[in-house]
Amino acid sequence: MWFSMRRCRAKPVRRRMLCLWLLLISFVLVTLTLLDLLNQDRDLGQGQGNPGSPRRPLQRIQSPPDLEVIVESRDPATELGVDSAPIESLQEDQLLFVQSIQGTRIPPQKKRSYKLLLPGANKDTTASGPSTYGEMGRAVQLQLEAVEREMELAALQRYGFNEMVSEKISLHRKLPDARNPECFGEQYSESLPSASIVICFHDEAWSTLLRTVHSVLDTAPSQHLQEVLLVDDLSQHGHLKTVLGEYVSHLNGVHLIRSKKRLGVAGCRTLGAARAVGEVLVFVDSHCECQRGWLEPLLERVAQDRTRVVSPIIDKLDWQTFQYNATQWPVKGTFDWRLDFNWESNSQLQEKDPEMNVQPVQSPALGGEVLAIDRHFFQSVGAYDPGMLLWGAEQVELSIRVWSCGGSMEVVPCSRVAHLNRHHLPHRFPDQDLLERNKVRIADTWMDAYRKIFYRRDTLAHFIRQSENPNITERLRLKRNLGCRNFHWFLTTVYPQLYIPQDRPTLSGELYSVGTSSCADYFHGPEGGAMTTAPCTGTGSQHCDLNSDGEVRWGPMGALCLDIKGDRLVLSLCPTHRPTASRLQWKFVKLSGQLVHQQSQLCLEAVKEGVLQQSNTRQGDIHTSTGGLFLRQCSHHPRQQWHFEQLVVPKGT
Ligand code: UDP
Ligand code: MN
Repeated sequence: MWFSMRRCRAKPVRRRMLCLWLLLISFVLVTLTLLDLLNQDRDLGQGQGNPGSPRRPLQRIQSPPDLEVIVESRDPATELGVDSAPIESLQEDQLLFVQSIQGTRIPPQKKRSYKLLLPGANKDTTASGPSTYGEMGRAVQLQLEAVEREMELAALQRYGFNEMVSEKISLHRKLPDARNPECFGEQYSESLPSASIVICFHDEAWSTLLRTVHSVLDTAPSQHLQEVLLVDDLSQHGHLKTVLGEYVSHLNGVHLIRSKKRLGVAGCRTLGAARAVGEVLVFVDSHCECQRGWLEPLLERVAQDRTRVVSPIIDKLDWQTFQYNATQWPVKGTFDWRLDFNWESNSQLQEKDPEMNVQPVQSPALGGEVLAIDRHFFQSVGAYDPGMLLWGAEQVELSIRVWSCGGSMEVVPCSRVAHLNRHHLPHRFPDQDLLERNKVRIADTWMDAYRKIFYRRDTLAHFIRQSENPNITERLRLKRNLGCRNFHWFLTTVYPQLYIPQDRPTLSGELYSVGTSSCADYFHGPEGGAMTTAPCTGTGSQHCDLNSDGEVRWGPMGALCLDIKGDRLVLSLCPTHRPTASRLQWKFVKLSGQLVHQQSQLCLEAVKEGVLQQSNTRQGDIHTSTGGLFLRQCSHHPRQQWHFEQLVVPKGT
């Protein structure tokens, strides 16, 4: 630098450009270092003494009061005066409980109406200053843009969504009203029960967490809002430590509870419920935005029947743009034979009955994003299963239990909350086994003999169960004590839409091609698509079932049928009516291994395609296809020879 300044003095006119360039490069380097330091600060430490990040709204608090009170919860049951069973698992926890300081509200951010901001939309693209410096300004700007892109990528990897975009959106943004106009005329009782909103979080981004809290405060009528409980499930990120405690202490009616042990979604919600005092618990994910008028219809349905568990329609926030996408009505919560949950949208229903726009719809299951349940009913029906680990399938367990043990579930269309659907879950992928363990608990506790159908389609769960034999004694006792109904009742009464596979020996399993040493496969969505051959996975994902109607049923719901398009094999949605069309009927000749299409009397043949084709499925898995499936004149060629291979033999009656 000294050298360059000297040169600047020696020949000021000729060197001016170079001098300015050097100054600008120094400026960029300093900016980069500062940005890097700021970024590191987000990962490190407790956030103490440095709330100076421009993203944090609490810069002006100089000496934060010591707010955190440690509560030794050796016996939370007596201490909290609630039913003991559901919180026994928490007895080892030491909890930190932050009580809010009433009445010292932070000046609210200026309310902005909904505005979509694309990445980089806030950037000032006009170069300022004399035109001589235009190019240099442009160079600096390009550098800064590169830094921003890098930060965007880092945030994406960390959270599974574009946090940089989220931070540019107001914490008080108002969503466009997607409710059916008929909802506006609905009148709700003045004496609705009070609600405790329980928001669990683990390493949530600042902007999404606080937007969730503010959207609740901005939309829930104060006469119905008992409290908002923020439950920290052992977050590590610096911004969720002291800075969050300070911020929350200035919000009326918002309390922060910290767990010193990682509890997972189910455990964390049970902890929040144990602390809550409102009549109705409303569990809300830590990255949601509530629509105006979302709370009242939920409370009303619960008030009318305290065993009713309800959910709003869950709209979607885009993980990249944070754009709001309203969900098509009507929707129902379902799960498949791999125990994966899905929201199912059915537009035909709406056309049939316009009343469906506003009428609550019973649902075999509800997602966990937002859920309202009477607090006493929640405790008496067994809260969440304390054996559920970290993340996954807890909503399926609660759904089967609520229905089987005297309650019901429904989606209330006049209530809408938007949920951020992440691109990926930071905590999901390393925990695939944990999700499987949770599913094993569901199958063994609730599915009776039907659990075999699950294990055949999820062989990893089968092997985990064999080696670990999880302890579900307490849950079976609960089931007995509550007099819960069996899974057959659930399937026939609550969820008759779910196809029940027959899984007959030698007529179900992986469809193995002798001639190509590969398995029949498909990797399209729930609507079906072309069949292929692929290496056999052994996971149960290629399981199919030739039933007594002659249909070859595919997919985790068994809702796709082996069908033909010209001479190619495809999957299409199975018809719901009987008898089955002969186009969808097949016969397996055990002796020759031929699978014969009944209508054409042609045989299924595996055809190798020279090039390996790889593609990404919607779940992001790489899918390899080795060939296609066709109908051909029957012959005894090995390419027309098939076995249904059952991968596992699950135990149980
Ligand atoms: N969560 C938690 N502990 C965990 C995992 C998740 O408290 O170990 C919280 C998370 O912050 C979120 C809620 O539980 O508020 C549900 O989790 P997530 O949103 O990741 O699940 P998804 O909506 O994707 O099913
Ligand atoms: Mn979520």
